[in-house]
Amino acid sequence: MRDNEFTKILGWPGYRVYRHEIDEAAKTLRLWVRRKRGNRKLICSGCGRKFSEAHDYNEREVRDLPWGEYRTTVIIEVYRVCCPNCGIRVEKVPQLPSKAPFSKRFEEAVGQACESASVRQVARQFRLAASTVRAIDLRYLKRWSATRRKDGLDRKQETLDEFFRTQLSEIQRKHIEAACVDMWRPFTNSIAHWAPNCRIVYDKFHILQHANKAIDEVRRAEFFRKGGRMRGVVKGKRWLLLTRWMNLDSQKRQQLNDLFALNRRVMKAYLLKESLERLWTYRYEGAMVRYLQSWIDQLRWQRLPPFQRLAQMLADHLDGILNYCRTKVRFGVVEAINGNIKTLLRRGRGYKNLAYLLLKAQRMAVTKTEFIVLQKAA
Ligand SMILES: [Zn+2]
Repeated sequence: MRDNEFTKILGWPGYRVYRHEIDEAAKTLRLWVRRKRGNRKLICSGCGRKFSEAHDYNEREVRDLPWGEYRTTVIIEVYRVCCPNCGIRVEKVPQLPSKAPFSKRFEEAVGQACESASVRQVARQFRLAASTVRAIDLRYLKRWSATRRKDGLDRKQETLDEFFRTQLSEIQRKHIEAACVDMWRPFTNSIAHWAPNCRIVYDKFHILQHANKAIDEVRRAEFFRKGGRMRGVVKGKRWLLLTRWMNLDSQKRQQLNDLFALNRRVMKAYLLKESLERLWTYRYEGAMVRYLQSWIDQLRWQRLPPFQRLAQMLADHLDGILNYCRTKVRFGVVEAINGNIKTLLRRGRGYKNLAYLLLKAQRMAVTKTEFIVLQKAA
């Protein structure tokens, strides 16, 4: 095989193989690469400024995807530029996302493997240390999150319109059966227009977020309405009020009970928030309607404006709430997402880094949701 054939198989855009070394006994392949002749624009890794002149260069060695049974190492020429903003800085190379000795696509393979297997299994598969796998996975998730934020979904109807128009075919759109969304108009309009067979589901997760917002408003109003001692009692209880009773230990429950003894309005608000969740235990829409009606009835004479507004919102969106009973997708997605964090904690054991855990949970929510959407489409 000639070097240009190696170049083709390696497939690093802008780079060519100029030397290779195969060790049959050790099953290793080493490839030396440098920029192709036409690829001369250097980019400062600090500020993104472009240069045509290099300051100097160095060789870096990174592990890349295997070629068959051969473990592959790429030795790449990396330039440094003399940047007026950043000083002497290494150039930006797309295949070298960090200082670690791995190519970007190798890290992607490891990160993807981590989505469906434990760190220990992935470490064995790639013959890496578990700590290395975690570090790679964290970088992989951070990169994913950065691109997501950049083109992040803003909550505008146009954004969703654009998505339907450019990303899905008419047939795909017709096959969408249900969408879980917040009680927010623009989404509804867009979905009704583009996916006529799609049922809007106002799901538990979003509605309980509104309930949490309502109890937080009550807490704040009480804090300002009452002076003195009461202020001290309400203060710092935000997190307690937003947490579900079943997730509090006995000491925390006692703290809440002390608060409730002094302020009945906050207690009532907390009970309303807690009891709303039962709505999603009903499988039949008749039972769901009756429960919601009794929940709204409890609000009478309570003087809790945030909850009255919430009740009005629920009444206005009743049809979409009942769709939770009517659609077959209901439990799959929601349960999958809810279960993610638990699964992660069980599986990884090494999540000392909270940011890592959260990124991982987000990523799982996205991939699992996509998975279910694909299953539906198939
Ligand atoms: Zn720079």
